[in-house]
Amino acid sequence: MVKAEGVHKSFGAAHILKGIDLEVAPREVFCLIGPSGSGKSTFLRCINHLEKINAGRLSVDGELVGYRQRGDKLYELKDAEVARKRRDIGMVFQRFNLFPHMTALENVMEAPVQVRGEAKAVARARAERLLDRVGLADKAGNYPSQLSGGQQQRVAIARALAMEPKLMLFDEPTSALDPELVGDVLDVMRGLAEDGMTMIVVTHEMGFAREVGDALVFMDDGVVVESGHPRDVLTDPQHERTKSFLSKVL
Ligand code: ADP
Ligand code: MG
Repeated sequence: MVKAEGVHKSFGAAHILKGIDLEVAPREVFCLIGPSGSGKSTFLRCINHLEKINAGRLSVDGELVGYRQRGDKLYELKDAEVARKRRDIGMVFQRFNLFPHMTALENVMEAPVQVRGEAKAVARARAERLLDRVGLADKAGNYPSQLSGGQQQRVAIARALAMEPKLMLFDEPTSALDPELVGDVLDVMRGLAEDGMTMIVVTHEMGFAREVGDALVFMDDGVVVESGHPRDVLTDPQHERTKSFLSKVL
């Protein structure tokens, strides 16, 4: 579903991603861990067309990110084409970024109606279904300010799902939450995983990575230091940098 080969990204003189190689299979829960500043968010942003890579190849579902290939020539995608591709990818951030002037239901209906031109009745029915799926059927009429952080984050997940993405990216979805609210959000993510969604999850929740993850990558300073099955990496890390990081977070 996602393939990165020698992906580099710089911001000016700052070399952030220094040759990332990895593969995410369909239906896989792929966890990405690493110290702050190691380039995890930047990598997700590259997958989601929010940043352009400087070198290497990055593809989602067999298609290069940002380019169209014809023969052996590459053509940069136009903005409208990028926008169309981005609809296939759902992203959930640390901060929920809900529209504050819309109810939970309206937040979830917004993109299908505005971006895809879907009939309101159809979007509403799906939004109700999705809010039910994230355990918030009874909060459909609440505004974000009337919801806890964990509830807002579950609305944000429902909102991302409303576009029926084939890939979901989670960037530290529980890091901004009070500890007692983390479990409900992780439960929703676990349910998504059981339903077969392909997910890349940047997280510090090692319990989630161990129980739900199919693969785990430890990234540091813009490179993949170590990867494998979460159980193996977490219980028997091979590299000093991985050991040192895990000793701080476990
Ligand atoms: P992580 O998510 O692993 O904490 P990030 O990908 O957010 O790391 O950031 C990696 C590095 O890239 C940081 O040093 C950050 O300051 C830098 N960075 C990220 N985005 C930009 C940007 N738009 N311009 C300049 N530097 C950036
Ligand atoms: Mg980050």
